[in-house]
Amino acid sequence: MQYCNRCGLPGNTPHIQFNHEAICQFCQDIPTVNKYQEDRKKALLHFETRMKEISLGHGPHCLVSWNGGQHNSYLIMRLKEEYNLDIVAYTLDNGFNATWTFESMRALSESLAIDHIIIKPRFSMLKQLILSNIESESTLNPDTLTNAGICRLCKLLIRSIGLRLALQYGVSTIIYGWPTEIDAAGYLQTTPQKLHHTLQKQLTLLGETTQLSNYLLAPEDMKSHSKSIYETWPLSFLDYDEKATLQRLNTLGWHAPYPPDSRQPYCWLKDFANYITMRQTGYNPYALEVSQQVRQGRITREEGTQHLQYKPSPEVIAATQAKLGIFERIKLDQDSANFAGEHLSRRNNNLYPTEYEHIED
Ligand SMILES: [Zn+2]
Repeated sequence: MQYCNRCGLPGNTPHIQFNHEAICQFCQDIPTVNKYQEDRKKALLHFETRMKEISLGHGPHCLVSWNGGQHNSYLIMRLKEEYNLDIVAYTLDNGFNATWTFESMRALSESLAIDHIIIKPRFSMLKQLILSNIESESTLNPDTLTNAGICRLCKLLIRSIGLRLALQYGVSTIIYGWPTEIDAAGYLQTTPQKLHHTLQKQLTLLGETTQLSNYLLAPEDMKSHSKSIYETWPLSFLDYDEKATLQRLNTLGWHAPYPPDSRQPYCWLKDFANYITMRQTGYNPYALEVSQQVRQGRITREEGTQHLQYKPSPEVIAATQAKLGIFERIKLDQDSANFAGEHLSRRNNNLYPTEYEHIED
């Protein structure tokens, strides 16, 4: 397969076009690295001003979504230690978070003296939503080339739940633990009404959401809140050193199975979503994000390529399928068997799953 000479984006990226020097169109179009650095500096400056401002008021100062993974946990630590914020962290337990994440979150929240709320919607409902997104035609968002269904679903739920909690706590700032797909400035600011409306609309596109109303904002919740809601994604612009981050987190009681690899990802569903997208399209839904980081000069082309070598572990895939009540309809497909499904193909005499079917309870 061909790879972009500059950012390493693979040739199976939808709509990719290479020029005669094997440079992809994204690299041809981009502003220089300097321009990116300027933008990031601007975003960081804006963020720091905002954090300083809110830290002067009475707490809690902000809500922070928390998945227990390394980068997200690092963000929480930094918000507390560097910006001195009174934090209410919250976690959406989708039923697929690894056990170690909860142990680590408990230890870290105690070390940092922050509040931590865990929200676990009933699994039967989440399962239904997840399944309807697995079965949908395309698992890739054509605009962002990221996972269209499952990960997007969780992010929308996290934002929707965050909005509700924000109004309950009288907090105007919600901080998310993943890099933004939304805005280069790294933040969005709008009224609770408008945000609610946008999120609701997007959730509806992903499936039947009537059952979700228990977790979402009701119109009467919005009446008392006149302030606008500020959402931000600092991992898009904060710099950090992975090694130092890990050491500091370990001293505070946060531990991942080491190395934090494919055997124990923080969210099994995320790995499963990647697996499905890769199997349907051949394309790794993180390729564009990773190549973007290369273009921004945040990681090298080699580091980017290494990130994309990551393959979900067969055990994780199998356990996720089992919990979702999915079994595979088997069809011979030797090519696909090279990816992540070795255990299944061995078990099934070189047969590999190509279609999903939901078993009715
Ligand atoms: Zn490129």
